[in-house]
Amino acid sequence: MVGKCYFCKGRVSKQKVKVDFRWGEELVVIEDVPAEVCEQCGEKYLEADVYKEMERLAKGRAKPFRYTTVNVFRFEHPVPAG
Ligand SMILES: [Zn+2]
Repeated sequence: MVGKCYFCKGRVSKQKVKVDFRWGEELVVIEDVPAEVCEQCGEKYLEADVYKEMERLAKGRAKPFRYTTVNVFRFEHPVPAG
């Protein structure tokens, strides 16, 4: 239980969220993750046990609930002058 946002001191409430979870080179998206979310800045707070379960899902050979494609872009720097 966090209670207050660490960053902006906003109110934090329990929600089910979608998390982009990076595991090495893999990126998986996990839905319905129980988290506490700041109502002001959107910062997500996850409990250690929740992280462990996400790792288990990401590493495991469980059949994904749904497939999606993730396109990866490399940020170009410097940003071209517009
Ligand atoms: Zn916040």
